[in-house]
Amino acid sequence: MKFGFLHDFVSLLYPEVCAACGQALYRWEKTVCLRCEHLLPHTGYEHIADNPLARIFWGRLDCHAVTACLFFSKEGKTQHLIHELKYKGNRNAGHFLGVELGKSIKNAPLFEGIDYIVPVPLHPKREQKRGYNQSVIIAHGIQEVLGTPISRDNLVRAVATSTQTKKSRQARWENVKDIFMLKNPDQFADKHILLIDDVITTGSTLEACGLKLKSQTKLKLSIATAACAIS
Ligand SMILES: [Zn+2]
Repeated sequence: MKFGFLHDFVSLLYPEVCAACGQALYRWEKTVCLRCEHLLPHTGYEHIADNPLARIFWGRLDCHAVTACLFFSKEGKTQHLIHELKYKGNRNAGHFLGVELGKSIKNAPLFEGIDYIVPVPLHPKREQKRGYNQSVIIAHGIQEVLGTPISRDNLVRAVATSTQTKKSRQARWENVKDIFMLKNPDQFADKHILLIDDVITTGSTLEACGLKLKSQTKLKLSIATAACAIS
């Protein structure tokens, strides 16, 4: 009780806010308020093999399963969470997204038997600037739910690229196609690899990672992101 009182008092001075809506959290809420948690726009794509995200990769990259946990919605909750993760240094937002993603794929047959969770690597300079790789934060949330090991040091990024945001799909592809390296292909041989990113838009970065993985060894590749910009 004492602690509860102290917590309430501190919260009056420095209220912790919901990473999805910005409203003050009750002390029994963590990172995201119960209302937002209830209203988050889940895609349900983890149960649909030929969903619109899987179709992005048809004819480009042979994927076993593709999903994103959340849609971007009019209320902007997903956008708010991603923004907190990428630009506000809010790792809790990323961990929350990872746990949500992990829960969504945990009992989805398409995502059974994953051997390694592989976050899309950031260039070390970019990671240093931000202080972390947002995909790694998400991967840790997934790991908490699935218990699957994360591999960070096998698929690596070789060359810095300029920001993707304002580029066309072709320009984005030219920008990323040769920037990943697989150091030890044997580690991933005959494994089911789950490639992780924060958001899927054109899929070009994920495609470049996937093509690199597939060109180096025989493996089963699935993709999961916290959010998707298409529906
Ligand atoms: Zn909220």
